[in-house]
Amino acid sequence: MTSTLARYAASDATSRGRRYQEASPRHRSEYQRDRDRIIHCAAFRRLEYKTQVFVNHEGDLYRTRLTHSIEVAQVARSIARALSLNEDLTEAIALAHDLGHTPFGHAGQDALNEKMRDYGGFEHNLQSLRVVDELEERYAEFPGLNLTFESREGILKHCSIPNAKNLGELGQRFIENTQPSLEAQLTNLADEIAYNSHDVDDGLRSGLIEIEQLQHIELFSAPYNTVIEQYPHLNERRTIYEVVRRIIGQQVNDLIETTSDILQEQQTADIDAVRHSTKPLVMFSKRMCEMNLELKRFLRNNLYRHYRVHRMSAKAFTIINELFDAFIHDIRLLPPDTAARSRILENEQGISGKARAVADYIAGMTDRYAIREYQRVFHPLEPT
Ligand code: MG
Repeated sequence: MTSTLARYAASDATSRGRRYQEASPRHRSEYQRDRDRIIHCAAFRRLEYKTQVFVNHEGDLYRTRLTHSIEVAQVARSIARALSLNEDLTEAIALAHDLGHTPFGHAGQDALNEKMRDYGGFEHNLQSLRVVDELEERYAEFPGLNLTFESREGILKHCSIPNAKNLGELGQRFIENTQPSLEAQLTNLADEIAYNSHDVDDGLRSGLIEIEQLQHIELFSAPYNTVIEQYPHLNERRTIYEVVRRIIGQQVNDLIETTSDILQEQQTADIDAVRHSTKPLVMFSKRMCEMNLELKRFLRNNLYRHYRVHRMSAKAFTIINELFDAFIHDIRLLPPDTAARSRILENEQGISGKARAVADYIAGMTDRYAIREYQRVFHPLEPT
């Protein structure tokens, strides 16, 4: 299982282990076990009804957090295999990376962060870690999923310094400015590759952006011209797909080749050398970085800030804002188990603990659950 891994790959042999000690799995690697636990957890199933850019009920063909996570896992595994890195670990990280996402995508996260400003803030990467470390209640022997250090390290992509200080060895790298495993680094970029390309696809399908606009964007225009030249009579839907697969392919190839050169050049010895490095070792070429940035900027200005996306974001803000205030002022509005948890955390940590319990409850909601909960709490004619 581990014989083909590069010397700098993560492996069961060099793993820093789990928070609660457990016997090794019999027929799986440690990271396969992590992946399996993630797939079976409730937060993973909720990803199906959480937004990426489009709200879940807007259409059945758009990406959700679940399909996004699966696409990230696919891209990450391809890259990991080509670089002889640990595919199982990349898959576990990819499938878990968005578990802490709020309903309504970034609008939801911004709203919750705003509400939590005086109580330690809300960071979605940190929330993903809270989900796997604490919030999932499934096992008799430990809270959370008790994942390996390496999976947890990969899930915690970003973290503010004050929060990092409370995380022990997992937070160290944000304070010391060092790196996580190569598997974590590549999954982070696989996430970008996946969302940039599927947002082009979903954006075009929704009609919020047009091919004509994208022709000024190099990452799109180069493959688009190739496809049009090679298949001038292809219908638009298939043309777009042929372009999108090339956008993904170009970036994956660039990432593999650039990273492979860096690893050779640096003579990277092992995972410790990776972790002590002051700079990431998994990278796009400079040229690809620029093209990538150009596409990102385009998507930000034309898709994420499109008035129709903004309308939904504004609604999301209202829903989260008002639910948070209502729950904080009267925790008896919460379902009993959440209210009980809120009382426990309030006893332990004061008002910040109470706010955290409310934030955990809201962050766990799917888009449609949040909308229904809003109606149940505020609309006099709705059933409660
Ligand atoms: Mg993501």
